Amino acid sequence: MTHFSDFALHEQLQANLEKLNMKEMTPVQAAVIPEALKGQDVVAAAKTGSGKTLSFLLPLIQNNLEHLQRKQTGKFPHSPRALILTPTRELAEQIFKVAKDLTRDTKMFTTVLTGGVPIMKHKRLLKGKFHLVIATPGRLLDLMNQGDISLHEVSSFVLDEADRMLDMGFRYDIQKIASFTFQPRQTLLLSATLDGKIKDMIDTLTNEPTTIKLTSNQEEHSQIKQGVYKIVGTEQKKFMLERFAKNDSIYQAVVFTNNKHLTERLCAHLKGLGEKAEFLHGDMRQNARKAVVKRMERGETRFLVATDVAARGLDIKAMTHVIHYDLPQVEEDYIHRCGRVGRNGAEGTAFALVGRNQNGALKDLERFLGRSIDVLTNPEGLPEEAAGPSSERRGRGGRKPSGNGAGRGGSSFKGRNGSGSGSSASKGRGKPAGSAKGRKKQAIKEKKFSEPRQSFGSSKNKGKAKSNSNAKQRKGSNSSNAHAY
Ligand code: ADP
Ligand code: MG
Repeated sequence: MTHFSDFALHEQLQANLEKLNMKEMTPVQAAVIPEALKGQDVVAAAKTGSGKTLSFLLPLIQNNLEHLQRKQTGKFPHSPRALILTPTRELAEQIFKVAKDLTRDTKMFTTVLTGGVPIMKHKRLLKGKFHLVIATPGRLLDLMNQGDISLHEVSSFVLDEADRMLDMGFRYDIQKIASFTFQPRQTLLLSATLDGKIKDMIDTLTNEPTTIKLTSNQEEHSQIKQGVYKIVGTEQKKFMLERFAKNDSIYQAVVFTNNKHLTERLCAHLKGLGEKAEFLHGDMRQNARKAVVKRMERGETRFLVATDVAARGLDIKAMTHVIHYDLPQVEEDYIHRCGRVGRNGAEGTAFALVGRNQNGALKDLERFLGRSIDVLTNPEGLPEEAAGPSSERRGRGGRKPSGNGAGRGGSSFKGRNGSGSGSSASKGRGKPAGSAKGRKKQAIKEKKFSEPRQSFGSSKNKGKAKSNSNAKQRKGSNSSNAHAY
């Protein structure tokens, strides 16, 4: 079966699909939907942008529409028939949008419950009619604890981006929520990445599931061109951002950073260049976050500077580029960030700015992906970064990093600039970000500064750079396959 019309779907559901111009199924939909329509539990892994949302929404709506003739329980609190949990508010909103489109003019009502919205609004909503709830775990538990919603009729349970939920520490919450649902229930568990770490979660939540694995973690987004620019520090990164702003082939882009404040600063910088830019991070109120996404969807914004709250769920068709201003702290997030472009087979481009002291992180990422990422030629006119002393250059016997982000090699970021030491050919093997410990320190440091703090690779010392130990880490991505797009 390859078409939605191959199923005997509810008439209005079929009509709504046609209105959305959805005719042919994507591979993950063709694999999941028949199983899920039968009531089977499903565990599915497929790459971002492959159409997982419809793969669980469609059977869930179809199966429940058939039972909606039954009256909703009169007594309060009401229970939905189906529950979808997501790790982020953005993803919940995105699924909500699709669910509303699919249930238009049917008897099925959908409600979305996420943090960042006054809880009183949800309390009011939950007094009304709802059959399908899309929620983030925290807000749902608050509402359950306050007696505003029950889950006793939930016979379809979906975990979208299940691995991310675990990364975000929702394991206990999910188990608690699941324990309040109806038994037996149908469980669908989906993710772009699905590996060993969630195995026990699968075992506790599902019952003899059909496992569908269309990709591995290392799935390459072949339609997304990917490349890294080897960059030294703040000034060069800023310069690159300015170049991106001038690049007409970038229609819309998300610029990912690991730091909330940096999203705001970069956004201000882009605005200063006359760009339509906005920022998005987890400290913003939900309404503001929604409004930002809406303006991006309408094409009113060209650059969205965001933390990883935007790494999943954001589905903007006109998006052409992803810019990893910082490498993500978790390798999987690289895949999810890239997945904001190339939706449903479209083409896209992802650039990463990799600071010198992120070579270890890049190597880890490439190992995770099972392939190297092309190193792109730095553009003409890249400013030289002044170099300062660094533990990486101190050699084997060098002083260990202090462990406190600010202490490494100098008292302050700014203070170290301009020390003028351009000699960067390191024979040493100080621990960059390669080891787990190093990565953690790196993460802490990036939280503080979110910029690589070592200077390296100006045109003057590029030759030396290639001969140092870090250069080995770039094998497979050397200048022979360097190109720019
Ligand atoms: P995922 O959850 O796997 O990242 P989504 O479900 O968000 O992917 O789908 C990605 C994009 O593909 C969305 O823009 C969606 O509208 C579109 N899409 C999904 N299924 C189909 C289909 N069968 N036909 C056409 N477009 C589709
Ligand atoms: Mg999805």
